[in-house]
Amino acid sequence: MEFSSKFLENAVSEMSQLPGIGKRTALRLVLHLLRQPESQTLNLAQALQTMRTQIKFCKSCHNISDVDLCEICSNPHRNQELICVVEDVKDVMAIENTSSFKGLYHVLGGKISPMDGIGPHDLNVTSLVEKVKEGKVKELIFALSSTMEGDTTNFYIFKQIQEYAIVTSTIARGISVGDELEYADEITLGRSIINRIPFEASLKS
Ligand SMILES: [Zn+2]
Repeated sequence: MEFSSKFLENAVSEMSQLPGIGKRTALRLVLHLLRQPESQTLNLAQALQTMRTQIKFCKSCHNISDVDLCEICSNPHRNQELICVVEDVKDVMAIENTSSFKGLYHVLGGKISPMDGIGPHDLNVTSLVEKVKEGKVKELIFALSSTMEGDTTNFYIFKQIQEYAIVTSTIARGISVGDELEYADEITLGRSIINRIPFEASLKS
């Protein structure tokens, strides 16, 4: 691709780093921004910069937050003894949309995947085990996607906390194997949390 401007070329090059955005799409988006009022593009740039520099991760659940302790963790009306373990922030959003869950979350930040070089120590597992050890938790609900990596991660965590007197459950799989939580419809996902099953029973099936 030949560019008449280095500035244009740089913008296209940066834009095309985004997933699913090839050089052609990047060019189309950049030219679109160029046609927009200048303020709109500056607002976008400002929003991205603020998002990147100001955003925090909740010190308790690792969800994305604007403050040290996120709104969910600091809400006194939520059940502090019930923790739903999810892979990432998108899953928290998906489950919150169902309005079926009134406990807290724990965001792992991924799942164990030896193929991708991701081990338990790359995830927020230790802080979860600590919460259980401190006796703050009565039940853990595993809500990871039902892929091999999800199952491996569930099992790894289960082994770490097995000796403590808490209930472990897993979301009922109305969701078919391999489906990501974020794509599950709200009713199905909500129901699967309410109808969760004991984790050990899920191992036998
Ligand atoms: Zn939190």
